[in-house]
This record gives sequence, structure tokens and C-alpha cells, in this order.
Amino acid sequence: MGTKGIEILGINAEELIAKLNRALADEWFAYYQYWVGAKVIKGPMREVAAAELIEHAADELRHADMLSSRIVQLGGTPILSPAEWEKLSHCSYEAPADPFVKKILEQNIKGEQCAIQVYNDILQMVKDKDPVTYSIVLQILTDEIEHEDDLQAVMEDFELLQRKD
Ligand code: FE
Ligand code: FE
Ligand code: MG
Repeated sequence: MGTKGIEILGINAEELIAKLNRALADEWFAYYQYWVGAKVIKGPMREVAAAELIEHAADELRHADMLSSRIVQLGGTPILSPAEWEKLSHCSYEAPADPFVKKILEQNIKGEQCAIQVYNDILQMVKDKDPVTYSIVLQILTDEIEHEDDLQAVMEDFELLQRKD
């Protein structure tokens, strides 16, 4: 990154880069979990749910891009090997081994809740110290909150399908 851009940081750049790389690992897992989930999903409301998963996969890929660009700007290197993802991620990857709509939604809601916690923690870490990272992470957090809400709305509709009265 430009020297002045580094100079104004009120936080240790190495520490921040390491944290952003951990979030980057989470984004790749989130991307793939949504992407492959949309391929295998089965059951009532399959199309509605799959459309949401596909949209979210695109968002997670965009988040990976945003984080990587900021890591490079800070003078760091985005994770170069997928083998590192498992070691670095905060949120675990949940293989959609059971393709039932409800199971896939549950797994992805859990993933979003983990992401919300991670980005909220990063916001606290950079607050008043790095406004540029703050702004990027705030945009990502806003998306993750929308993702959780969207998935919970699909889940609610799915559960209403079982209603008999
Ligand atoms: Fe994301
Ligand atoms: Fe998300
Ligand atoms: Mg959505």
C-alpha cells in the first residue's frame, strides 16, 4: 500500500492482515457451501431456496474479492493455497451431505450467524483505527445480516407449508 495509507493506520497492519485472511477463508467456504448446496438441494420450495443460495454465493465471492483487495492494499498477501482455508477459517465448512431443503437452510443460517459475529468483531477491532477497512467490513456485515434474514424467511415459509389449519 502507499506509504501514507500505511502510516495513518492506528492498528498493527500484520495483525489486521492475518484477521482479514481468516475472514477470506470463511468467504471461500461460504461461497462453495452455497454454490454446491444450490446444485444438490431437494424438497419443497427447492427453486425458491436454490435461487437464494445462488444469489448468496455471488455475494460471498464478492466479499472474497473485497477482502483480498484490502489485504493487498495493506501490503499483505491473500491466502495462496486452499489448503490454508481449513486451518484459518473461523466458521466451519458444513458439507450439504443431506440435500433436504430444511437441512441446507439450517447449515447456511448457522454459517451466516458465524459470519455476523466475525465481522462484528473485526468492526470493533478497526473502529477509530482504520476507517477504510471499517467501511469495507461494514458493507460485508450488512450483506451477512441480510443473508441471515433472507434464509430465516425462507425457513419460515417452509415451516408454514407443514401447517394444517
Ligand atoms: Fe460473506
Ligand atoms: Fe453471507
Ligand atoms: Mg438474499
